[in-house]
Amino acid sequence: MFSWLLRQHGPQGWWPCQGGPFEVMVGAVLTQNTAWVNVEKAIHNLHQAEALDAGTILGMPETRLAQLIRPSGYYNIKAGRLRNLCRWYVGAGGFERLRQQDTGVLRRELLSIKGVGPETGDDILLYAFHRPVFVVDAYTFRLFERTGLIDSGHDYESLRAWVESRLGPDVKTFNELHALIVRHGNRVCRPRPLCDDCELRSHCRYNQAD
Ligand code: SF4
Repeated sequence: MFSWLLRQHGPQGWWPCQGGPFEVMVGAVLTQNTAWVNVEKAIHNLHQAEALDAGTILGMPETRLAQLIRPSGYYNIKAGRLRNLCRWYVGAGGFERLRQQDTGVLRRELLSIKGVGPETGDDILLYAFHRPVFVVDAYTFRLFERTGLIDSGHDYESLRAWVESRLGPDVKTFNELHALIVRHGNRVCRPRPLCDDCELRSHCRYNQAD
């Protein structure tokens, strides 16, 4: 699958913004339930307000933060989630301290933050801390089930473990594969799939059943 997706879309080179690890973490929260283009607007606002650091975010009223990230949607909820993330980040001593932690410990800590679920936490682990953790999302379930790679019935953790056991541990592969799956899910394997334009069509159970 990896090589077919790569042939179709080319290297993605994620994370989709060029900021540092903290900006990746902020983006991982803001991208919940919204398109990346909206996240970019919210991050732009934070840059303009010189508010892209944990101390500044914690120091401003939550209503002000909510207004800055308004383009990302669910902005009141996300303002609270961002502040939770920042409290943990500052309390743990910042990025240099956190990066010294074992991946399992870091993952457990991230998942204990209110508003950070497995997909957000694994985005942070893979794209901010460069840990060999595969990020599963709705595109992954759809693509893997349609192609017949997996049967329905997998949950987040079992699908993550399934991919990691076959392809990992490999940060570069996990980084690129997740990005390619998102791209493919956006552009080709959509709810109404464009199978005629898909490099996977001759290997895909869904297409062959049509
Ligand atoms: S052939 Fe169709 S259903 Fe299968 S992966 Fe491609 S777009 Fe999706």
